[in-house]
Amino acid sequence: MKYCIVGAGFSGAIVARHLAGAGHTVVVLDERQHLGGNCHTERDAETGVMVHRYGPHIFHTADERAWKYVGQFGTFRPFVNRVKAVSQGKVYTLPVNLLTINQFFNTTMGPREARAFIAEKADRSITEPRNFEEQALSMIGPELYRAFFLGYTRKQWGLEPTELPASILKRLPLRFNYDDNYFNHPWQGMPENGYTSIIKNILDAPGIEVRLGTRFEAVEEQFSHIFYTGPIDRYFDFRLGRLGYRTLDFERFEDDGDHQGTAVMNYCDEAVPFTRISEHKHFAPWEQDQFLRTVCFREYSRLAGANDTPYYPIRLAQEKHMLDNYIQLARAEPGVSFLGRLGTYRYLDMDVTVTEALAACDRIDDALRAGAAI
Ligand code: FAD
Ligand code: UDP
Repeated sequence: MKYCIVGAGFSGAIVARHLAGAGHTVVVLDERQHLGGNCHTERDAETGVMVHRYGPHIFHTADERAWKYVGQFGTFRPFVNRVKAVSQGKVYTLPVNLLTINQFFNTTMGPREARAFIAEKADRSITEPRNFEEQALSMIGPELYRAFFLGYTRKQWGLEPTELPASILKRLPLRFNYDDNYFNHPWQGMPENGYTSIIKNILDAPGIEVRLGTRFEAVEEQFSHIFYTGPIDRYFDFRLGRLGYRTLDFERFEDDGDHQGTAVMNYCDEAVPFTRISEHKHFAPWEQDQFLRTVCFREYSRLAGANDTPYYPIRLAQEKHMLDNYIQLARAEPGVSFLGRLGTYRYLDMDVTVTEALAACDRIDDALRAGAAI
């Protein structure tokens, strides 16, 4: 059997490897000139620093299968994401933890006191938050919400927090101790040689042919089945309309040595036009001292136009309705499976992407064993 995989990110690479392992021929296409999808990393030509071209990526997971899977294809170095945030002229740590609370309110509270203090601030009349703002007000109260979330969220999403789902905020922890790890997951790390090297190793198997710089739309060959990890609306020529995305503009600049002393600095005030600055040498602490220069990126968020890279799916009611209709079309489309963040129009972290791709491989096995079409 000859299969086609559209997209050389984590989703496509994992399915390709699995099919090749079962003895099939697999053609992997990507219109970009590189592997890795949005997780692509490369050495910066000027400074030599390993750069995450489409924004900072930290691997973190609670799924042991996903963690063990990626670990087979490269070494992951320990890395803990510790985000700093500038608000109203001061620097704090995020996610909101005891240091953030004590610094912000000029207090020296312990965990129990701080918990009671924040419970007083929180709006207890909101029992079931219906949107981002209600979630924030019911969790941390108005002062912390305004200082850290209101302006940043308006910049990031171009919408009022009242229009956004509560789930966007729910993914951030709130801690009453001094733990400033941005994530709660037991496994977290950074690939020693970057993500592209991991994906290259996944795709390095007999039976896999990779064609970079190749658009699926330009391919006329016939395949037994297509696994499509590109945008679902694009597959159907946008016939039901375009699903909305936010895109990012990255403004690159260099400095000597160390620019900001940390990997990620968020800018929470609305008056600052960018959302954050990432300094990529700090994502690889084991090698950062060897670089004399440093490279940083200011991140600006805006609504994606037709020719922009899609980053964050907007997923408001209108988009969800359109997505449901595209899903109906996808179900009726023979010989094609849609997966990954663009194929399913969902914000997926890398670990969820890996978990879902491995689950797709399990389903492929079941179908092949049963002699059924995939
Ligand atoms: P992608 O990586 O997007 O790959 C899809 C590929 O398909 C692309 O290379 C594209 O060029 C190709 N393609 C699409 N259409 C076609 C076509 N018609 N023909 C040919 N090729 C096509 N996750 C984390 O776990 N930790 C993080 O810190 C993190 N940070 C992130 C930061 C940002 C700014 C964003 C937007 C995402 C972040 N993520 C993070 C999520 C992560 O990027 C995704 O989980 C991952 O990229 C999903 O992989 P994928 O293979 O599904 O899709
Ligand atoms: N957020 C914020 N201020 C911050 C960090 C995050 O308001 O300093 C909000 C913002 O709306 C963001 C959401 O919290 O989209 C989730 O944060 P996360 O860090 O998960 O954002 P992402 O990784 O998706 O950029």
